[in-house]
Amino acid sequence: MSGMLPNGTLAGKTALVTGGGTGLGKAMALEFARLGANVAIAGRKHDVLLEAEKEIAAHGNGTLALQLDVRRSDDVTAAIDAIVERFGALDILVNNAAGNFIVPSLDLTPNGWRSVVEIVLSGTWFCSQSAAKAMIASGRGGSILNIGATYAWTGNPGTVHSACAKAGVLAMTQTLAVELAAKNIRVNLIAPGPIAETGAVAQLWPSEDGAKRIVDAVPLGRIGERQEIANAAAFVVSDYAAFMTGACLVIDGGRWLGKGAFAK
Ligand code: NAP
Repeated sequence: MSGMLPNGTLAGKTALVTGGGTGLGKAMALEFARLGANVAIAGRKHDVLLEAEKEIAAHGNGTLALQLDVRRSDDVTAAIDAIVERFGALDILVNNAAGNFIVPSLDLTPNGWRSVVEIVLSGTWFCSQSAAKAMIASGRGGSILNIGATYAWTGNPGTVHSACAKAGVLAMTQTLAVELAAKNIRVNLIAPGPIAETGAVAQLWPSEDGAKRIVDAVPLGRIGERQEIANAAAFVVSDYAAFMTGACLVIDGGRWLGKGAFAK
């Protein structure tokens, strides 16, 4: 699968992708760079960020690797200040960073709960609020894209922390879409299904048997490719989607709908 939008679609824009050193975040960061954006990536592991930054820089635009824990609001604000200082503005934020692990609800510890909810929900909030202020200050507005999950509305036995946090992120998307519309900031969400070569798939479905069960549950009969999400993300943050806000775009091969009682 290759890129979808024409070269230069994001020229002159600056994007921040949290969790941009790995998985879906890296795929989106690379695609934004291919389309001409300056791209900052943020995460906790410096060496991982530097490796990814090298690949992103190969597209010839500005890059910035920011070692950051999205749970720390002051660090988030400082990182966004650094992006504005370096590139003049922040136009695009992708809230992609997440933590997750499988645990029966009754065994989940307070720390486990707090960790996932703080990364996914609080981290998305801290980044969104800081980025929105920067987008308003620049006078250019901007686009915020949250990466959610379909279990925000179906629930997901085994990951109650993540399901609750992603439900909050969906509510945040819809709330901020309306509150920030007058400031020319669009806020949308992509809910991916299982995507190959990502941390989520490696962590949640590590066995061959688990992977087979996932594929069997997808009406389109396969798991997705990172580039499919990157292409959709590039569209959502670009001016091609200028009339789109508060939307939740599901890209999961039909998985969340299930196969019904009569499908063969
Ligand atoms: P991944 O490869 O595990 O990446 C997660 C990223 O988040 C890592 O780069 C990680 O970097 C960063 N991160 C984690 N905690 C952080 C923190 N406290 N502060 C800053 N960065 C942090 O994940 P993925 O599978 O690509 O998933 C990306 C997004 O898609 C997530 O929001 C996930 O919920 C969603 N999603 C994925 C799938 C899928 O099939 N992959 C399906 C549905 C939804 P560090 O560890 O270095 O901090």
